[in-house]
Amino acid sequence: MGTRVKKGDIVQVMAGKKENKGKMGKVLKILAEKDRVIIEGINLVKKSSKGDPANNKPGGIITEPAPLHLSNVMPYCNNCHTGVRVKFERHGGKVIRKCAKCAAALEYK
Ligand SMILES: [Zn+2]
Repeated sequence: MGTRVKKGDIVQVMAGKKENKGKMGKVLKILAEKDRVIIEGINLVKKSSKGDPANNKPGGIITEPAPLHLSNVMPYCNNCHTGVRVKFERHGGKVIRKCAKCAAALEYK
């Protein structure tokens, strides 16, 4: 019926690795075919980069967020101050995501 987590959402990590748990961040990318999500500033990994001499980018170690499994994150409800389950409601032709706890609409702008 709808997508639980979308690009641009603020989500909280509810499960998974200890160092990521409880953290919040903005969804940068959804890897739908892998059920994974990339969140700004979360699950950072160091990667070596060859650099790009054509663009004057030096090589070296870069830090970037690695994907997390979608089941480990939940949309953050500003009202409940936590990651929450989502329920979908139909209004006219539009599907609206709501917090399953407090019924606040989950909007991230
Ligand atoms: Zn709520």
